[in-house]
Amino acid sequence: MNNMDITSFTYSEATLSETASWDTSRSRAWIEISLDALRHNVRYLQSLLPTRCALMPVVKANAYGHGAGLIAGELNALGIRSFCVACVSEGVELRRRHIAGEILVLGYTHPDQFPLLDQYALTQTVVDHAHALALSAYACSASRHALRPNHSPLPVHIAVDTGMHRLGEPAEHAAQIREILSLPGLQVTGMYSHLAAAGGTDAASRNFTKNQIDIFYQLAAQLKNCPDEYVAPHVRLHLQASYGILRYPLPDVDCARPGIALYGLLSNAADTRACAGKLRPVLSLRARVAAIHQLSAGESAGYDMAYTAARPTTIATVTIGYADGLPRSLSEDGTAVLLHGRRAPIIGRICMDQLLVDVTAIPGIHPGQIATLIGQDGQESISAADLADACGTITNELLSCLGPRLERLAL
Ligand SMILES: *Cc1c(COP(=O)(O)O)cnc(C)c1O
Repeated sequence: MNNMDITSFTYSEATLSETASWDTSRSRAWIEISLDALRHNVRYLQSLLPTRCALMPVVKANAYGHGAGLIAGELNALGIRSFCVACVSEGVELRRRHIAGEILVLGYTHPDQFPLLDQYALTQTVVDHAHALALSAYACSASRHALRPNHSPLPVHIAVDTGMHRLGEPAEHAAQIREILSLPGLQVTGMYSHLAAAGGTDAASRNFTKNQIDIFYQLAAQLKNCPDEYVAPHVRLHLQASYGILRYPLPDVDCARPGIALYGLLSNAADTRACAGKLRPVLSLRARVAAIHQLSAGESAGYDMAYTAARPTTIATVTIGYADGLPRSLSEDGTAVLLHGRRAPIIGRICMDQLLVDVTAIPGIHPGQIATLIGQDGQESISAADLADACGTITNELLSCLGPRLERLAL
């Protein structure tokens, strides 16, 4: 703890792996978070939305690998008062880190876990009519009233299925949705849907998305025509995630739920490049050179002899592997890390905790030097979106797999 600057250490329960100014000098592999970039992205996304629309940042999956406590703490400091998580345990974790404001659980919660919603002041998504009945039964139960004698209602947002068929009461079930709005014990504070194809630019995706939006607003209008059941001022409407915010501006939304764009990226490299300058990547991923080896022509390195030197080659061992979340499939296709601002190709199989790179063309490499897996080094940079493309996945998956062993520090 000696190297920690107490004055900039704001999260009382933060650990060594998620602190404001942990000295990286002894770290094996770590994530650097640019709070400037995060603040920029918040301002940019806000500028695309109607003034009264509140950002409800999605910090599920440890804030897409960035560190949920760190990210939500900074967003709280910026005045953001609503967050989305995937499950109750993620909400509990945020409360333990003193995150204030509304925390909406986007996913299903089993009735046995409903007491945690009360205990940690979490807002549950009603995933369908049956789930609403279970939530209402819990909210009205004698055991709950023993704990909460003031009978305060349980806050929920209703998920509406407008075509994705993942979660939500079907939009055509207006009568059931009206019933959810008036169930005892529940206070419906939001109603939302999720756009399943907002990232697609083809005609089919655009039509599908516009249809989802139409269905959602038709339902909202229908409910507004029944004012006794629909407490309109308290029910905030939202349906855009990152691509929805960027591509489907809507005048009549109360909140928006950006995930990947908040972190300065989009799901693939082409989309991310198209937003360069508007969105700024928040995360850099770094590790260290552990050792150098000289190979003669014909010598192999790493597991399974997957790499054989064609000529005399200098290789370096780098202190990060697939257990840190770097996909093992990156082994195959000439992906590089940055050393001294130059690209050193990954060779052989990525190991659980280490990987090997070819540094023949980069003189002066020695143990302890910093290798950049994602981010800028000198004139060169590697985007998380490029890495995701290289291993056939999307940025969201790559980032959300970055593991707990990595230290996370804010710059
Ligand atoms: C994950 C998620 C989001 C955020 O999605 P991005 O594409 O990362 O912006 C928003 N809403 C729901 C319901 C989600 O599950």
